Amino acid sequence: MPEEILKEILGKKLEETKKGIILDGTPRNKEQKKMLEEIGIKKSQIIVIEVREEIVIERISNRRTCNKCKRVYNTKTNPPKKEGICDDCGSEGKIIIREDDKTEAIKKRLRIYREETEPMVKEYEKEGRVIRINGEPPIEEVREEVMKRLVRGKKMAVLYSGGKDSNLAMLYAKRRGDEIACLITIESENKESYMYHTPAITQTKKQAEALGIPIITTKTKGIKEEELKELKEAIKEAIEKYGVEGIVTGAIESVYQASRIGKIAEEEGIECYNPLWKKPQKEVLQEIIDEGWEVIIVGTGAEGLDERWLGRRLHEPGTLSDLQRLEEKYGINIAGEGGEYESLVLWMPMFNKELKVKKKEIIREEGGTARLIVELE
Ligand SMILES: [Zn+2]
Repeated sequence: MPEEILKEILGKKLEETKKGIILDGTPRNKEQKKMLEEIGIKKSQIIVIEVREEIVIERISNRRTCNKCKRVYNTKTNPPKKEGICDDCGSEGKIIIREDDKTEAIKKRLRIYREETEPMVKEYEKEGRVIRINGEPPIEEVREEVMKRLVRGKKMAVLYSGGKDSNLAMLYAKRRGDEIACLITIESENKESYMYHTPAITQTKKQAEALGIPIITTKTKGIKEEELKELKEAIKEAIEKYGVEGIVTGAIESVYQASRIGKIAEEEGIECYNPLWKKPQKEVLQEIIDEGWEVIIVGTGAEGLDERWLGRRLHEPGTLSDLQRLEEKYGINIAGEGGEYESLVLWMPMFNKELKVKKKEIIREEGGTARLIVELE
C-alpha cells in the first residue's frame, strides 16, 4: 500500500479513537515508523513474534487458501475435511497455494524482513518499546501470551538502587508494557559491595513513595557470593507477595552483575530483563538529560572525579562534556558503570513529585572515594 494512503487512513482512524490502535504488520520499515510518529503515534510498542526461518518456510508453504471465500487452511495443522475442497464452499471453492505463499516468494519476503524490518526493530529496541514473543509454540499458546502482554503486561520487580540506571531500566520496562509490581533494594553494609550500589540506598524508600510502588528492602553484609542469597530471598518474596514474573536490572555492561542475577531468575523460573545491556553509555546519559530528569552525583571514586563533583546535577550544562573529557583523559566510564560515580534520581517521568534534598554531608573515605550523604524531604 502506498505510504501516503496508509498515512491518510491511519491519521483519520487515530482521530476517531482515543483508546489507541493495534496494527498488524505495520510498521515494517524505518520509513513507516517515522510516518507513524508524524501522525502522532509516538508512544507505541511493537510486538515481535519470533520464529526461526526454517519454521516460517515450513508453516507458510503448508498454507492453502480457498480461491472463492479466501478461507485459510494448513495441510498439516488445519486441513479441509475433504482434500482439495473448501469446507464452506464445497465443490465451488478450489483450494490453492497463493503466489505469496510459494517458497520463492517466502524467501523474498524473509529477505525484505531482514533488510528492512529488522533495522526498524533495532530502533524500537533502543527506545525500549519491543515486546518479544516466541512464536514457535502452538498458536493458542502464542495467542495467550500476546493477549497477556496486551492486557496487563508482565509483572516485574525492579532491582532498584535509586540511581539513574535502575530508574531508566524501570522506564523501559514500563514502555514495553510491563507493570512495575515492586522495587527491590538491597542495602549493603559493605561499602565496596560487588553487587549493589551503596550510597543513598536508604533513600530508595522515599523514591518508592514518589513512584507509588511498593518496595522490598533487605540488608546484606556484602560478602561476595553471600549477597546473592539475600537477593534470592528478596526475589522469592516479590514472587510470593506480588506475583512477580520477571526482574528488571539496570546493568549496562557488568557481566558479574547481569550473569548472577540472570542465574537467580532462571532458577526461579522468571524473566531477567536488562534493557540497557550494551547500550552506548553516552546514549543512556543523553536520554536522561533530554527528558529533564533531576539526577545528582552522590558518590565519586575515579581519577578526575573528586569530591568537587558531589551534588553536581547531571543535566546541568557542561556535565556531560566534562565527563567525556575525563573519559578521554583517564578512560573512565562516563555512565559510572565501573563505580566511577554514583547517582541519585530526584525526579524522572514516573515520579509523581520531585524529591528535595533536606540535608547533606560529605564523607571522605580511604582510597580517594567520597560520598554525599543526603537526607530527602
Ligand atoms: Zn471457500
